[in-house]
Amino acid sequence: MTLTGHMLIGQQTLAGNREAIHGINPATHAALEPAYAGGSAEHVEQACALAWAALDVYRETPLSARAAFLETIAQEIEAIGDELIDRAMAETGLPRARLSGERGRTCQQLRMFARTVRAGEWLDVRVDPAQPQRQPMPRSDLRQRQIPLGPVAVFGASNFPLAFSVAGGDTASALAAGCPVIVKAHGAHPGTSELVGRAVTRAVKACGLPEGVFSLLYGSGREVGIALVTDPRIKAVGFTGSRSGGLALCQAAQARPEPIPVYAEMSSINPVLLFPAALQNRAEALAQGFVASLTLGAGQFCTNPGLVIAQQGPALDSFVAAAARLIKDCSAQTMLTPGIFNAYEAGVSLLAENARAQVVAAGQIGTGPNQCQAHLFITNASDFLADHTLQAEAFGAASLIVQCASDDEIRQVTEHLEGQLTATLHLDDADLEQARTLLPTLERKAGRLLVNGWPTGVEVCDAMVHGGAFPATSDARSTSVGTAAILRFLRPVCYQDFPDSLLPAALKHDNPLQLRRLLDGQRETQA
Ligand code: NAP
Repeated sequence: MTLTGHMLIGQQTLAGNREAIHGINPATHAALEPAYAGGSAEHVEQACALAWAALDVYRETPLSARAAFLETIAQEIEAIGDELIDRAMAETGLPRARLSGERGRTCQQLRMFARTVRAGEWLDVRVDPAQPQRQPMPRSDLRQRQIPLGPVAVFGASNFPLAFSVAGGDTASALAAGCPVIVKAHGAHPGTSELVGRAVTRAVKACGLPEGVFSLLYGSGREVGIALVTDPRIKAVGFTGSRSGGLALCQAAQARPEPIPVYAEMSSINPVLLFPAALQNRAEALAQGFVASLTLGAGQFCTNPGLVIAQQGPALDSFVAAAARLIKDCSAQTMLTPGIFNAYEAGVSLLAENARAQVVAAGQIGTGPNQCQAHLFITNASDFLADHTLQAEAFGAASLIVQCASDDEIRQVTEHLEGQLTATLHLDDADLEQARTLLPTLERKAGRLLVNGWPTGVEVCDAMVHGGAFPATSDARSTSVGTAAILRFLRPVCYQDFPDSLLPAALKHDNPLQLRRLLDGQRETQA
């Protein structure tokens, strides 16, 4: 397939009229063709007009048709074949195996949402039948279902060019909910975005859906991104990226005459607590697991373990010594973009210059451009508690160990943490009581709590929560991964005393969609 460098607005391809960006091969600094001219407010206007026109048709598509659309997107992405992986490798420096796996995850995610859509549980149908004889007042017939919020703006993330980008989790969950989607492509992988965007537009056409169900725009966040977030036809936003970017979008959304929700996944350092018995029994194995998790993919995972908390003593000293030895052997890995590399270098420099932290070890120095040198730092609890900058995310393979003098200091450090995507506990039986006392605090902070595992790697499934309190996300009630992500883009509507012929299918008296309803206070066991 020949890449055009054009935006996709419904079924139209359009050249932008702003400064062009090129994909950059981070391993060589080479600019990749074609150029992608940025869009402007007029393109946002066109995409929003089409999305709005598509909304009322798309949101009432039969569940089977919407599910088939999601499956068709997956098939179209797979049908691109090696070209997609080759382009993504050139634009990101990520290895083939990682990108092939990510493509599999992206398509599996679309198919999982197709299954979710078909099952219809997310409609959360509640029926309270009329009680005309009730005293002192009769009760009306009341029926509730969930409807989509409206068109959603999705910002592709740089660190997962497939699974968190054009047809990633935000897009899949919004489309599953019945929302048209307008994606602002991330400038780090424009060609990959075009290939996937074209797969989605082919699926829109093949499924006979209104063209405005999907558009893909290029351009600057400050122009195209803000124009999207402030357009009155956009009703929600999905974002993964930096804290400053996420907050800028939240502020723009809140300043609108009609504020809208922004589901921004931003910054998390994913604390790992090493409890005394576990540390005593397996310091070496813990160090191996930690360094592998920290350096996976040059640390460019939002769930990378950027903080370790443990009680000082010989067992922690053994862990630190083993981790230092392993870090020193780590070869430098190419980061996704020059921007991410520069931000990582700046974050590591801040830690290195901070008198409250000491360098424990550094990995091998890179020999090519944009290569991440792993770093491990150490501090103590009182310094950590005194300096908020020590919990800033340094996106990449850098981590900080906080050594605590007592259980009470561990509690204080844990309480002092900002919101997190994950919190990990390494424990043995003898540690259970101490762990139990920290759980209420950790539950308040994190979206996912793990025992004796490592946080990198997020399963796409029904029970997953990839969320957490601020700044991990802007809305702690939600997840951006897993089928519960659909709930972000829905709102309830109640229908009172409607004649059956006017009710949507999900609410009709004879339950034609065979949904398990909450009927008069009882959950139906089967439809
Ligand atoms: P980013 O700078 O936040 O950019 C993400 C998207 O948001 C881009 O489309 C960008 O447009 C847009 N954007 C950023 N600031 C904006 C603003 N003020 N107004 C409107 N739109 C804005 O993230 P990134 O480029 O992926 O990486 C930068 C840093 O973010 C990384 O070094 C890392 O520290 C962090 N990051 C964290 C995670 C995580 O999961 N925790 C993931 C990825 C990145 P433009 O391209 O035009 O700026």
